[in-house]
Amino acid sequence: MSEYSFFGAVEKSFDKAAQFTKWDPGVLEQIKQCNAVYRMHFPVKIGEKIEVIKAYRVQHSHHKLPCKGGIRFAMSVNLDEVMALAALMTYKCAIVNVPFAGAKGGITIDPKKYTPYELEKITRRYTSELIKKNFIGPGIDVPAPDYGTGEREMAWIVDTYASMRPGEIDAMGCVTGKPVTQGGVRGRREATGLGVFYGLREVLNMKDQMDKLGLSVGVEGKRVVVQGLGNVGYHSAKFFQEAGAKIVGLAEFEGSIWNTDGLDVDAVFEHRKKTGSILNFKDGTNFAKNTDALEMDCDVLIPAALENVINGTNAPNVKAKIIGEAANGPLTPEADENFAKRGILVVPDMYLNAGGVTVSYFEWLKNLSHVRYGRMEKRFTENLNTHILGQIEGLTGKQVNNKEREFIMHGPDEVDLVRSGLEETMITATREIMDAWKANPQVPDMRTAAYLVAINKVATSYAELGIFP
Ligand code: GLU
Repeated sequence: MSEYSFFGAVEKSFDKAAQFTKWDPGVLEQIKQCNAVYRMHFPVKIGEKIEVIKAYRVQHSHHKLPCKGGIRFAMSVNLDEVMALAALMTYKCAIVNVPFAGAKGGITIDPKKYTPYELEKITRRYTSELIKKNFIGPGIDVPAPDYGTGEREMAWIVDTYASMRPGEIDAMGCVTGKPVTQGGVRGRREATGLGVFYGLREVLNMKDQMDKLGLSVGVEGKRVVVQGLGNVGYHSAKFFQEAGAKIVGLAEFEGSIWNTDGLDVDAVFEHRKKTGSILNFKDGTNFAKNTDALEMDCDVLIPAALENVINGTNAPNVKAKIIGEAANGPLTPEADENFAKRGILVVPDMYLNAGGVTVSYFEWLKNLSHVRYGRMEKRFTENLNTHILGQIEGLTGKQVNNKEREFIMHGPDEVDLVRSGLEETMITATREIMDAWKANPQVPDMRTAAYLVAINKVATSYAELGIFP
């Protein structure tokens, strides 16, 4: 076990930014601490044996309610990690103006070792432990998927919650990332990856930043490497490819591959599904070591798996000009220092991967309002657009082509509204952080600027509650 503390790294980044604020040290200390930590053990019968399962839920802050954050299933889950991830959620939500406080949960298991039935038992038992201690509820604390969990687990959680809280009208809002048939929202599955894309696209469109890095403006033609082909990595890679970037390298834990002309993300994904590995892909070359992809010559490197993958040892070998942190905490503070010194732009996790929680917010709103997005306005908008188009064509005597007609007349579906809300959120957040950085030229990097924005928002919200002077 290394000496590295993930929560310590988050605290370090916090302190680095806090010195640029004027908040009272007591205020800063209150924001930094984890407010409530719940560590539990519970028994689950697996086969003929009783297994004692260790799990956590940490609520980092209560300056807004509910608390919000995913649940992770992995052997690496420990208290330090859950605390760090909960803290990141507080700052993340503040940056993207999502009115939640941060939380995180985790169960220390290897989900691959269990059958779906056993996983269901574990998930349902974890949920009832949360219910017993009042650590879950649409107005209290709302979990979501994270590493090792997905829609299936969220469906088990909502079902357990709803059956133990009969008649609670807003029960669906107790968890997000659910399947659409169980109260989920269209667009949640790809939300984090799409948010990563929108955030990086906005940065790549900033001429002053690109000039500093010696890069051309825009996504088109950029050479991108993605580490991790899970939900976040896959969708980030896919949206970059669709926008005209070249995915020159892809890494997974079994190995990594490259092609300087670009890899087709879906074809690699299919290949991995068939063979169980991304290696030996017909249009790619295997790297000798899976970590080699991180050190490949490229414009944008997107670590999209777990924390701590780029550290003091391998950071000096990284050749990318921009690091887009799709995972939570993929860089250690030593890696950060190395990149700052070498003028490499690190676009920080707690804002870049906030697409997931942003769309979770939309899902929660949908659950509380009990109506699908677009239901009320779709037909009205289509009728209105048809009318306007008819008037314009009548007045000008010209006809628009069929493709344009379809586009203009289309009224918004749920996924259109969710994506446009996400795009707006990510663009606004990027600009807010960059503006804060420009207004404080002593701030050394974008992560510190992001923390600065987050600290100011959380402290202001406490002050507005009258808790702080
Ligand atoms: N687990 C995701 C994250 O780290 C999503 C959290 C949520 O939707 O509440 O941001």
